[in-house]
Amino acid sequence: MGIQIRHAMIVDRQTIRFNAIDLQGLQLLGNCLGHFARDHGLRLVTLSGQLGAGKTSLVRSWLTALGVSGRIKSPSFSVVESYQLDDGSQVAHCDFYRLDDPLAWQAAGLRDALASDLALVEWPAKAQGLPTADLSLTIDWSQANDPEGPRDIRVSLATPLCNELMQVAQKAGLSPQRCDAPSGPTDQPVDPHKRASMGGLVQAVGAVSAVGAGSASGLLSLSFVLVPTDAQATAVTAVRVWPSKDYTRISIEHDNAKLGFYTQTLQNPPRLFVDISGVRLNDKLKTLLASVKPDDPYISQLRVGQYKPDVVRIVFDLRTDIKPQVFTLKPVAQYRHRLVIDLYPKIARDPLLALLEQVDESRRDPAEAARIQDILSGKTGPSFTDPSQTPTDQAKPSDQTAQADSKDKAAPRVPSGPSGPSGPKKEPATKRLVTIALDPGHGGEDPGAIGKRGTREKEVVLRIARLLKRKIDQQPGMRAYLTRDGDYFVPLGRRVAKARRVKADLFVSIHADAWVSPRARGSSVYVLSERGASSTAARWMAKKENSSDEIGGVRIGAADEDVAQVLLDMSTTAQIRDSLKLASFVLDQVQTINRLHKQQVEQAGFAVLKAPDIPSILVETAFISNPEEERRLRDANYQDQMAEALMRGIKAYVDKNPPLAKSRMM
Ligand SMILES: [Zn+2]
Repeated sequence: MGIQIRHAMIVDRQTIRFNAIDLQGLQLLGNCLGHFARDHGLRLVTLSGQLGAGKTSLVRSWLTALGVSGRIKSPSFSVVESYQLDDGSQVAHCDFYRLDDPLAWQAAGLRDALASDLALVEWPAKAQGLPTADLSLTIDWSQANDPEGPRDIRVSLATPLCNELMQVAQKAGLSPQRCDAPSGPTDQPVDPHKRASMGGLVQAVGAVSAVGAGSASGLLSLSFVLVPTDAQATAVTAVRVWPSKDYTRISIEHDNAKLGFYTQTLQNPPRLFVDISGVRLNDKLKTLLASVKPDDPYISQLRVGQYKPDVVRIVFDLRTDIKPQVFTLKPVAQYRHRLVIDLYPKIARDPLLALLEQVDESRRDPAEAARIQDILSGKTGPSFTDPSQTPTDQAKPSDQTAQADSKDKAAPRVPSGPSGPSGPKKEPATKRLVTIALDPGHGGEDPGAIGKRGTREKEVVLRIARLLKRKIDQQPGMRAYLTRDGDYFVPLGRRVAKARRVKADLFVSIHADAWVSPRARGSSVYVLSERGASSTAARWMAKKENSSDEIGGVRIGAADEDVAQVLLDMSTTAQIRDSLKLASFVLDQVQTINRLHKQQVEQAGFAVLKAPDIPSILVETAFISNPEEERRLRDANYQDQMAEALMRGIKAYVDKNPPLAKSRMM
């Protein structure tokens, strides 16, 4: 495609206003302009307006009018999206918001895009020396706190075309108003910055004459460019994004104890607005754009801007309806103040679904898969309640069902042990899969312990857990489920809830922790204690592991307390007895590959071991704080040996304590 240089003529331009247009009106206008621009051969169209004003929505309707079908992606990441129409003509949709250099648009690719048969350009002010647009459109969104609120739209184009557009728009059901004062002749390429500020001036004057003094609508776009002067405004020091199938978390670290926020969700298409006051848009905060992965399960696009002197606005375009949880966390461990934005799916992801997905296709039991599908579709069984969700989400019925079921399950387990009257070798009447919940500690915001060489516990334990899962899945009659299969944070209570939801028979939490002295070494296995810890070190370790929620970040809410209460109300005596058996089998095997820290199983109040109905152990695979053991933990061979040892220990327990044949929900 050849590069065409447009020669704009000096023409009179006029402006048409569309006042108080709602989102449907916006789509109507996009459709109308799409036909109009094609019929009159317009080639360059610019769209201005603050973040979230609706520029991309308008372009979508515009492109749909031209016959573009399927998904119309926002170009905010790619800068340009191109379309070929049925008649062979090319349309480019550009978003210059992310251009760092005002001359970057002159790079070959973008120049070509602008030479398309039609180019629709968002954020033209970011590009210096753009040719004059055939039609420039500005969206004023004065009630920006209300995403559904009305927009005032100004369309500026050559005077001869104005009459025609007035007629076409009226026919389409819109109410265009011609601005009496023409915006004056526009010359050849002007400095877009100058033009933008002139536009703001014109707008301010227009607002005063139309609505009278006191209207804020004209001032908004002016204040948009002001540098924050508020002494409270503070800089963001770090931005992190943790995507996962369960939820995506955005963590914004800052220094302002008084930071405020306001959120609003919108549907069709789903979006989330987060306005943060007391924060200045800086380079750190801008890295948020690049931090979101293109395959994020919940975010499809994201924009961030300083939309008032002391307010930063983040607009998330979402892939699905979400239930956001936005909260602040006080400084803890290595972190300063944090603002956390959690994007949960509106319907919590059921761990049963994850269990199904985690099982290798070839090993799936079709009958069980069908049963799980029935449960997931609500035909049978209780629905899963995410403890992070509000109590209105059937938390009570679900918990009660789980409680009743777990009592029924915990009771008959005791005589099934080797000392039980039925003997250890009794064959179950019907075979069923034994499910082992594997719980790699920490994740996401919580790195766990960090070795001298920078080895992070959360990464090492995830690798060991994945290896162990593969080994367990290869055992006949056994399968494993991971409470966390990625680098994201899972609160301690939720790990327990997930294991109970998939009816895990055993729970194995995997860690690699640190001690104050680098000389401490050796593996340990812990179980829950009902009355105090078995040693000072065990108590210290439990306290350290239990701080995971604080570092990883959980919102304190009523629903979480409900879950905690269920767990507290139930006796763990039988569970601890079985857990001690499991732990000693595992300890026997672990000592074949690493020295033991203590020769016996230790006990302490680990929060993650509190499932009243599942024998649960926590394995400290080695001390990451010991340089020699850190080296081993990094070693793929050692990771595999550790996984193998854990598998042998678990299998030895299962062989001695076959699960009871009982009719299960799944
Ligand atoms: Zn740990």
